[in-house]
Amino acid sequence: MATYSCPTCGSALTRQSNSAAGATGGLVGVMLSVAFASYHCTQHGKIDRSQFPSEVRTKMMINTLALIFGAIVLLIAVIAFIVAIN
Ligand SMILES: [Zn+2]
Repeated sequence: MATYSCPTCGSALTRQSNSAAGATGGLVGVMLSVAFASYHCTQHGKIDRSQFPSEVRTKMMINTLALIFGAIVLLIAVIAFIVAIN
């Protein structure tokens, strides 16, 4: 998982994911909650995506899309498996 640094102080950011979504949606839910997790700086609190430089935002968007794509592929694989064993 890629880590990002705070645009203000440069310290590493932690991600705060929605654990409720992860608990209810299984692995796909975990992936989606990670994809939409917000970034937190220990000094500055929640960092809005608009506060990051544009190249970082592009990278984040690609990572998010990759996660969503992975979740969809996984979902299709699970459905295909269920169909196959029935
Ligand atoms: Zn900071």
